[in-house]
Amino acid sequence: MAETILVVVEQREGKLNRVSLETLVGAQALAKQNGWQVEAVLLGSAAQLDEPAKEIAAAAVAKVTKLESDALAAYTPDGFVAALKAFLAVSEPKLVLLPHTYQIRDFAPKLAASLGSVLVSDSTGARFENGKLLFTRQMFQGKFSADVSLAGDGPHFASFQAGSYRADSLEAGSAPVETVAAAVGEIRTKPEAPFQEAKAAVDLTQAEIIISVGRGIKEQKNIPLAQALADALGGEIAASRPICDAGWLPMERQVGSSGQTVSPKLYLALGISGAIQHIVGMKGSKHIIAINKDAEAPIFEVADVAVVGNLFDIVPALTEEVKKARG
Ligand SMILES: Cc1cc2nc3c(=O)[nH]c(=O)nc-3n(C[C@H](O)[C@H](O)[C@H](O)COP(=O)(O)OP(=O)(O)OC[C@H]3O[C@@H](n4cnc5c(N)ncnc54)[C@H](O)[C@@H]3O)c2cc1C
Repeated sequence: MAETILVVVEQREGKLNRVSLETLVGAQALAKQNGWQVEAVLLGSAAQLDEPAKEIAAAAVAKVTKLESDALAAYTPDGFVAALKAFLAVSEPKLVLLPHTYQIRDFAPKLAASLGSVLVSDSTGARFENGKLLFTRQMFQGKFSADVSLAGDGPHFASFQAGSYRADSLEAGSAPVETVAAAVGEIRTKPEAPFQEAKAAVDLTQAEIIISVGRGIKEQKNIPLAQALADALGGEIAASRPICDAGWLPMERQVGSSGQTVSPKLYLALGISGAIQHIVGMKGSKHIIAINKDAEAPIFEVADVAVVGNLFDIVPALTEEVKKARG
């Protein structure tokens, strides 16, 4: 029988997060490579799970399980670990994949350790090579990539960084949905307000268009130039680290290894050099346009469209053209 890859799908108040879909895409790709099958499991109360389970069942997976209990309505590490541990004992997957969210990183190491395993955290990809399962992890702030292989029989655990796979590549299908009453043991902690991925209202990981500003913008008073282009395109404004460090834009708009990892349809980089710490946060974008006056800027290595020029000439003209085109 085919081995199973189980994806733990995260929902919040009945809404799926996109990194879970990306993780499913990673699982589908791996399964295809080795003839394995993908299953998905969601945890929560009955009311929270109905809609997201339906959504996942429309993907190419063998089965979706709703691991239900009122005691799982609010996240606690005790509750989630106990419920998943009992479920894993029955479902016996070879591999458990999880999105690398705050919630998952809170409980997944405990879950893996309780089964004598480890979590390969924050992976950016996975593949089979000569029959061996390898996970890619970035090291030293993205300067190196390491291939991590697994010892022992499993179940093995790995989490994927946001932007590692494209959610819109999810293969469609039709899967049965099963409900399992979760075995939740003693919960020793009292749940408080849920984790916030970003403090502000903006969640850059969900943005389809991002206009990102670097030190080439020169002064804080020039930020509205980029904001006007973002408004014209209906996108979100983001920045490289020096811009946020200087307080010109809020910290939660920083893209990169110590900021957010984004994968919009369009990433427009204005006056950003393309340091590796920035690139790791945006290289998963579908289309990258970079405007930089230095033809040798490293950002051009990942750009689909490279515009060599002065952003102060180009951006206002571009904004006008976008406005005209959009009526
Ligand atoms: C541990 C660590 C973590 C880090 N994390 C992050 C992170 O999360 N995100 C991040 O972004 N950085 C991060 N950095 C910093 C990173 O190394 C770079 O210093 C930073 O990304 C550079 O930002 P920049 O491209 O805006 O500025 P610069 O490197 O100074 O580049 C400015 C660019 O603007 C161009 N330019 C100048 N004037 C114009 C003009 N008029 N028109 C067009 N182009 C122009 C220049 O040619 C240049 O390429 C981190 C560093 C460390 C050590």
